[in-house]
Amino acid sequence: MVGGGVMGLLGALELARAGEPVVVLERTVAGSESSWAGGGIVSPLYPWRYDAAVWALARWSQDYYPELASQLLAGTGVDPEVHASGLYWLDLPDEREALDWARRESRDVRRVALEEVREVVPALGGGFASAIYMPGVANVRNPRLLKALRATLRAMSNVTLLERSEVRGFLCEGGRVAGVTLESAEVRAARVVLAAGAWSGQLLAPLGLDLPVEPVKGQMILYKCAEDFLPAMVLARGRYAIPRKDGHILIGSTLEHAGFDKTPTEVALASLKASAEELLPALAEAEVVGHWAGLRPGSPEGIPFIGEVPQYPGLWLNCGHYRNGLVLAPASCELLKNLMLGEAPIVDPAPYAPAGRLG
Ligand SMILES: Cc1cc2nc3c(=O)[nH]c(=O)nc-3n(C[C@H](O)[C@H](O)[C@H](O)COP(=O)(O)OP(=O)(O)OC[C@H]3O[C@@H](n4cnc5c(N)ncnc54)[C@H](O)[C@@H]3O)c2cc1C
Repeated sequence: MVGGGVMGLLGALELARAGEPVVVLERTVAGSESSWAGGGIVSPLYPWRYDAAVWALARWSQDYYPELASQLLAGTGVDPEVHASGLYWLDLPDEREALDWARRESRDVRRVALEEVREVVPALGGGFASAIYMPGVANVRNPRLLKALRATLRAMSNVTLLERSEVRGFLCEGGRVAGVTLESAEVRAARVVLAAGAWSGQLLAPLGLDLPVEPVKGQMILYKCAEDFLPAMVLARGRYAIPRKDGHILIGSTLEHAGFDKTPTEVALASLKASAEELLPALAEAEVVGHWAGLRPGSPEGIPFIGEVPQYPGLWLNCGHYRNGLVLAPASCELLKNLMLGEAPIVDPAPYAPAGRLG
């Protein structure tokens, strides 16, 4: 497994639970890149705007997350805090499409009066005209999810987690990928899974493959409020506020094409603070206690690449989850395992297949 983000760690866990020996190779420290930096909403921001392929994975994951979190908590004592707070969309320009989508997909999404929203979220700003609500949507405390995954893998006898181990290239033998090369070592394996997030495209380039996965920088800020300050997630004009159970509030996020630079900027800080104060004016008086950036693995239409690369048997992909990697991870990793082990797949694998999608 190349990469120790949510895809690499959870992918390793699923394969290891099925009895496979797994080596995870992580360039830095596992769980310190995009999967750490994300907000952890267990839903695409606007699920009806995505291709059905994204929703198919999201839906499966949404149902599985509570069980995954309790398994991890029981095994490690680290709680990924799946917090089913529900989500309010405010002043949505495509409200009709959202409601039609919800009807088709049998998801509970309802129009609500603003007075009703204010009863639940008294801190909401005054500048909104309409709202729709999806109960039950959760957010996961992703840094804790990663910590729990890492601890689980460390305790498994058939998993080797090697950090500070950068993969430099692939070993090719007889037209197959037969392992990877590190700075001064090789790791041989019958199958190699590339789960290197925003860096996946770079790694495939020397094989003459053009994987359209590129970094899309996202910045977030963090406040600490009273535990009951924000009882639900709120989202308006592309910006959202996510409450953690202990009163931390995350505000996200920017979308920037800045290569592999992940320096937080003053411009983004000011813009995120303005959004925070528009959504929840009391935050003007609160202190920003965190500000960071991460690199999303951007891909065409946000449809991930999951499956074997036909040009290089033995080389598998699980990358390109763009803005939805945390919600898509459980289903993506289960599907990857299904395909690798010849099991019946949980969803139709065709939309995610690398075949025909690499240049
Ligand atoms: C600001 C922001 C907000 C977000 N909010 C949400 C959200 O609310 N909900 C949601 O579902 N998603 C969200 N996302 C998206 C989500 O975080 C990503 O889609 C997901 O984390 C991608 O996981 P990954 O494992 O593919 O990548 P990463 O977590 O980036 O992991 C890739 C790993 O590969 C390693 N690596 C790279 N190159 C090599 C190499 N050569 N050798 C070894 N290891 C290597 C890296 O060090 C890294 O640890 C957000 C992202 C950002 C930035």
